[in-house]
Amino acid sequence: MTLTAADATAAPFVPSGNITQLRESATIAASARAKALRAQGRPIIDLGAGEPDFDTPAFIRDAAKAALDAGATRYTATEGILPLREAIASRANALLPAGAAPVAAGDIVVGNGTKQALFNACFVLFGPGDDVLVPTPAWVSYYEMLGLSRANAVAVPGRLADGLLPDVDALARAATARTRGLMLNSPCNPTGAVYGRDQLAGILALAAERDWWVISDEIYRRIAYDGPAASAFEVAAQRDRLVVVDGVAKSYAMTGWRIGWAVAPRAVAQAIGNLQSHTTSNAATVSQHAALAALTRPAEAEPAIAAMVAEFRARRDACLALLAGGESPPAVHPAGAFYLFLDVSAAARGPDGAGAAFAATMLEQHDVAVVAGNAFGAPGWVRMSYAAPTADVLEGLRRIVSAWRTGRSSR
Ligand code: GLU
Repeated sequence: MTLTAADATAAPFVPSGNITQLRESATIAASARAKALRAQGRPIIDLGAGEPDFDTPAFIRDAAKAALDAGATRYTATEGILPLREAIASRANALLPAGAAPVAAGDIVVGNGTKQALFNACFVLFGPGDDVLVPTPAWVSYYEMLGLSRANAVAVPGRLADGLLPDVDALARAATARTRGLMLNSPCNPTGAVYGRDQLAGILALAAERDWWVISDEIYRRIAYDGPAASAFEVAAQRDRLVVVDGVAKSYAMTGWRIGWAVAPRAVAQAIGNLQSHTTSNAATVSQHAALAALTRPAEAEPAIAAMVAEFRARRDACLALLAGGESPPAVHPAGAFYLFLDVSAAARGPDGAGAAFAATMLEQHDVAVVAGNAFGAPGWVRMSYAAPTADVLEGLRRIVSAWRTGRSSR
């Protein structure tokens, strides 16, 4: 039956039990709202979206065009084209310590963005009754993906001095008999904090000792400023319960191409492939060819990445200089990714936390879009992205600091 608009409005909708807890992605919502206001003519400075403001490098776009002309328009294997999975494997193998068993193409499933790879991993690894430790603040979608898997996300906070990253003792203390896994994300979205190599090794050793599954989301690994950010591949003594998730979106400025992947023990990779074979099948064929160019043409890719990271670094440094230039909200030291995470609890108050109230004020009164921290499990905070033109970033941050000062002195 064809529904008219009126019928559709009248139709009762009782959400299924699958989504009773589900909330819209706050990062996507903040960015959509900023775009909508801009379309209405408001001069919004959008520091909400976590999306590089650079174009995909030309050689990658050209490779995609050539692939289209060569017929890359049909289905591929669900898990992705073999040369791409081989390129991902050799990238992983370059990180492994000498003597470690190599990653093979069969251990890899390419999906529609790192987001799908993460969802798939959560869904095949965790289920009802499972506790999964989530260093908090964490990216909004981890909590929802675990919820959709009917698992229980256990938020584990860290200290500001440690960039809000919980250390190995905090993780050990948070564990229960039901703990089955751990989500890691270094560099971290939303804070930009990075685990040191030894810390990461210690955490992976704890996880191995306790038989936890670890999902290590390394999408920001190449965007690090205070020395390289370690990969779990470099420091894990064993990989039989490790899933490393990565993609091209952030470091190659390829968000819209939707290519991410999971590198997992073979049985897990097969389960992920089976799941994906029923949901989306393969990631877009042309995008896989674009990602293949990105990963296999380092002579062109590496200078492009270096230039983008240098630009992010310059913006980060300018933000830190601005914050140091007068009284400003406490912030996590941003050692990687492209976010500043600011404690605005002294400057606002509201039912969803200071961060939500402050973010609303920033948008409504100061035309600056940021994301409220409650979505990341830190209600007193806000996240601003500096993946935006430098002038916007600095003007936005000036307005944030000024609103914070005003809010604080009026309380
Ligand atoms: N990951 C980015 C962010 O946190 C993009 C939006 C999303 O997928 O959440 O802003």
